[in-house]
Amino acid sequence: TSSESLLKVGGLQAGYGHTQVLFGIDLEVKAGEIVTIIGANGAGKTTTLRSISGLTRIYGGTLTFKGRSIKGIAPEEVTRLGLAHCPEGRQILQRLTVEENLIAGYLPERGQSFDAIRSDVFAMFPVLKERRNSLASRMSGGQQQMLAIGRSLMASPELLMLDEPSLGLAPKLINQIFEIIISLSNAGISLIVVEQNASVALEIADYAYVFDAGRCSAEGGARNVLNDPGLKEAYLGA
Ligand code: ATP
Repeated sequence: TSSESLLKVGGLQAGYGHTQVLFGIDLEVKAGEIVTIIGANGAGKTTTLRSISGLTRIYGGTLTFKGRSIKGIAPEEVTRLGLAHCPEGRQILQRLTVEENLIAGYLPERGQSFDAIRSDVFAMFPVLKERRNSLASRMSGGQQQMLAIGRSLMASPELLMLDEPSLGLAPKLINQIFEIIISLSNAGISLIVVEQNASVALEIADYAYVFDAGRCSAEGGARNVLNDPGLKEAYLGA
């Protein structure tokens, strides 16, 4: 059902060495939802995603995915459980081809055949099919973002975390990325979307968390957050 809890984060504290960045984050994603995390630069959005996927050592708190603790679990193992992370800055393998990048993202343990997922990814991103033999480095910024999302999809995620998917893209491409996010959601994938582009993210999300200096300063239905005049100032950084 749509009210089933997929991911639960409780009292998450994390940071880098002695610099604490997160001071007790509570967050939940229910199956089928698009959840957005918005907030100013440095608020801790990226650190939260990295903590969930095991890339940052956490100081404390609980992380539960599909009812099981994923605290302290290696990133590859988290992905194998069905939680994929498409990082900020894309981090695709520039010297490999489009197809080789997709191969690198494939996880046979998820139980789907490579050909089946690849054809789904090609259907969603025709440009990746057209340019399957091109070096990733030859792709435009928008195409690289599509490749990064496509590569994450090769792991057949149930929950996909996208960090700043629209970063650095022209307005037309930003719209295209958000349409893709909606179609991923329609395909049954739950999503966490971290965005600077708060108003667009709020328009497509079900639920929103507003971060401020390592804490969640507000949360609620995305429509309510979008229309709340006080919050508008907070998330637009005005
Ligand atoms: P942005 O949109 O700028 O990525 P954010 O909300 O995602 O913002 P984080 O990237 O999580 O914020 O950063 C939160 C804080 O942690 C910032 O003050 C940042 O300087 C600090 N920080 C991030 N990465 C490191 C690191 N590797 N070492 C030390 N401090 C870091």
